[in-house]
Amino acid sequence: MLLTIEQVKKQFAETEVLRDISLHVEEGEFVALLGPSGSGKSTLFNLIGGIIEPDEGTISLNNKIIHGERGLIGYMPQQPSLFPWRTVLENVVLVQELSGKPNIQEAKEWLKKVGLEEFENAYPIELSGGMKQRVAFIRAMLSKQNLLCLDEPFSALDEFTRINMQKWLLSVWEANRKSILFVTHSIEEALFLADRIYILTKRPTMVKEEIIVPFKRPRDESLFNNEEFFHMKQEIFNLLKDELDEGL
Ligand code: ADP
Ligand code: MG
Repeated sequence: MLLTIEQVKKQFAETEVLRDISLHVEEGEFVALLGPSGSGKSTLFNLIGGIIEPDEGTISLNNKIIHGERGLIGYMPQQPSLFPWRTVLENVVLVQELSGKPNIQEAKEWLKKVGLEEFENAYPIELSGGMKQRVAFIRAMLSKQNLLCLDEPFSALDEFTRINMQKWLLSVWEANRKSILFVTHSIEEALFLADRIYILTKRPTMVKEEIIVPFKRPRDESLFNNEEFFHMKQEIFNLLKDELDEGL
């Protein structure tokens, strides 16, 4: 088991955010987290990334507790935190710089794959929201860690770019088989990408349901027309509907 989260609780002042979260990600697995906004998905990622620590429970990577330890996972936060004084290319290689020698060639190839080759010397202020997301995404991909935590990585993209990025992520993942934990608001996105989906309740948050996604890989857009896909989408929608008073 790569990542194991056991009975984690987290409270901020009076707000009980995570009441009892247990979940796991196996080696090479693609797992999605789906839950109402404010349910603590980003909080959970901050816990895994060592930015904050749990009040109770344990978070382990390869059977070792990692509370408060940063740099062990590839992490793309919900707000792409790019350094304004660094160019796109300099932002992308940042994590590699911290751990040794950056591979400029590899970074440039990634920028090309996501259509940012002409922007490698641009500064973040010159980029759209979606472009910044792509930069932050590549930075996480280049981090060389076995677990990637992506917090709504495609939410600022238009529908067309989004589908392309999803397909592209799947092809990259199928080639590399890093483990991915992926937060999304989109039921379709979770079903399209993941092996398993954890559905979260509203706050105080627990795991409501674990769903095994049965679709064969490689997957493509034809899945959107699949009857079982449609059926599962409805089923998950109904599960989430009960949690909706915070908005989805
Ligand atoms: P989600 O990502 O599921 O939308 P968040 O994890 O961002 O939810 O937030 C969950 C709740 O925790 C929110 O009510 C938010 O205001 C609160 N929260 C998150 N981080 C902090 C913090 N550092 N201090 C205080 N409250 C926080
Ligand atoms: Mg969030």
